[in-house]
Amino acid sequence: MYITTTIPYVNARPHLGHALELVQGDVLARHHRRRGEPVRFQTGTDDNSLKNVLAAEAEGVPVRELVDRNAAAFEGLRRPLDLSFDAFIRTSSHPGHRAGVERIWAATEHDLYQRHYEGLYCVGCEQFYPEGPCPDGHEAPLQRVSEENWFFRLSRYQDALLELIRGGRLRIEPAARRNEVLAFVEAGLDDISISRSAARARGWGIPVPGDPGQVVYVWWDALANYVTALEGDDYRRWWVAEGRKVHLVGKGVIRFHAVYWPAMLLSAGKPLPTGIFVHDYLTVGGRKISKSSGDAADPAALVDAYGVDAVRWWLLREVPRVGDADFTAERLIGRADEDLANGLGNLVNRVVTMVHRFLDGHVPPAGEPLVEVSGAVHEALAEFDFRRAAVAVWAIVEEANKYVERTRPWRQTRADQEVSLGTLVHACRELAGQLEPFLPTAAARVAAAVSGERLPSPEPLFRRLAGSSGAG
Ligand SMILES: [Zn+2]
Repeated sequence: MYITTTIPYVNARPHLGHALELVQGDVLARHHRRRGEPVRFQTGTDDNSLKNVLAAEAEGVPVRELVDRNAAAFEGLRRPLDLSFDAFIRTSSHPGHRAGVERIWAATEHDLYQRHYEGLYCVGCEQFYPEGPCPDGHEAPLQRVSEENWFFRLSRYQDALLELIRGGRLRIEPAARRNEVLAFVEAGLDDISISRSAARARGWGIPVPGDPGQVVYVWWDALANYVTALEGDDYRRWWVAEGRKVHLVGKGVIRFHAVYWPAMLLSAGKPLPTGIFVHDYLTVGGRKISKSSGDAADPAALVDAYGVDAVRWWLLREVPRVGDADFTAERLIGRADEDLANGLGNLVNRVVTMVHRFLDGHVPPAGEPLVEVSGAVHEALAEFDFRRAAVAVWAIVEEANKYVERTRPWRQTRADQEVSLGTLVHACRELAGQLEPFLPTAAARVAAAVSGERLPSPEPLFRRLAGSSGAG
């Protein structure tokens, strides 16, 4: 399974919305690896955007310097967020990217033509609109652009796209997003501009092959990353061979991924992705995330303050499959203390303490599993429902706590204690395994606490965050 995130612009540092998509991709990657499937999980940065050029101008630093600095902040999320991506592609420095974009350009040449173009351009969105203001809320006025551009015959692919999406060969989830794409395509597709003048792009970007006065439209360039990052055998293995190819994307870029990108690939005669999962947006304290959100929306700062388990758990357990979610530190703290410190942490601590008190730390033979959750987790993740999957894992915590109350090992005979504590240690081990895709760090601590024939002494697994001075 080939899993990608979108590659964000690097005009600013990463925020919590980027962390959401990265953590979702990470859960899928870890889940499928655990099932023994080959997985490639890829992310990266879109370095060639005009937005990056303007941000560098505003800051008074060379574009290269700004792009390198912010791209490093994105790649640097790997450690604090416990991400397991296999590849990180930067469109301005990946060795095969430019040549790959040129190859796709050449392969689609039969669908390209030059035309004079006038339109209103939003630099924030990097796209044209018929009229202002920008529907996505960018405040800068749209720029009137008048130039000779290269166009792609998107209109030619309307029927093919409808067939792909209606027939499920290109699966778009959730269903409302699929219907949104179908309605857009059914309304008729106009050809799209796929280049801009090199002067307007300040010379930043990939020149159009054979027309150095133009650079390739940043979306055409960026979308290509999903295949240009796959060189040689990797391209055949992950893109051409049978197997799932899934893009995780935010709702704002659905048209690029579900319409333009498949049409580009159809034109180039290349295989298509098999799935697109669209997530909604996060707000922070009721507001759209922006530069002024500062540390409140900075994933690395949040991990510093609350720990990676609390941050990942909020993103996975609280964000619904459909609909926006509002982040506040209070909600993160409340969820982490209830589920991690009280629920999971107390359970494991209780079980380990009882094994020491009643059985001198020796682990009895494993009993019957208390609850089977792997099927429910897998089904939920197959539908990209991360919250439902997280809740499914938690059934082990709940069943184990109920089992303790029901059996009361402290009142049992030694023989019965061996049965009940064997069952509970086994449940905690199963929990550590099931938890790994979601909370790899916590899962490793749980696994260590219940490993071996004689358990280590009980240690608290999670600190409570409410009222702790490190928080906030
Ligand atoms: Zn805009």
